[in-house]
Amino acid sequence: MATIFTKIILGEIPSYKIAEDERHFAFLDINPIAEGHTLVVPKKEIDYFFDLPDSHLQSTISFAKKVARAIDRSLKPLRTGVIVQGLEVPHAHVHLIPLYTHNQSMSFSNKVDVSEDRMKELAKKIAESLNTD
Ligand code: AMP
Repeated sequence: MATIFTKIILGEIPSYKIAEDERHFAFLDINPIAEGHTLVVPKKEIDYFFDLPDSHLQSTISFAKKVARAIDRSLKPLRTGVIVQGLEVPHAHVHLIPLYTHNQSMSFSNKVDVSEDRMKELAKKIAESLNTD
């Protein structure tokens, strides 16, 4: 059965989409731990991140870098943190977490409340900052 992320990639489930290329897809995490918390997903349905073939692992990191740069430009965090966890959804993905303060927690227990309108605005702002290097 297709993973929830594959359903998002195929447009069967809505998402706050940010970017897409032939092999990757990026969208806002629905339960963010910071405003602009983004997921970067290889379209290939592989559960464990480190089971991705080297070339795909590299392209996923390069794609994540583009999205992280767009987060940096648009939301102006101190920097963007990275977590690869994958304990909940069995489809490899990278969490990009904007860090706005030095003592900001990257714990998944610290969810933040973000309205639907703000989620739309965040996705739009990040998307508009892609490819503006
Ligand atoms: P993990 O697999 O532990 O890295 O966590 C999976 C992440 O996917 C969690 O942070 C969830 O909030 C997020 N997530 C699950 N379903 C969706 C969805 N439909 N749209 C956006 N994010 C999701």
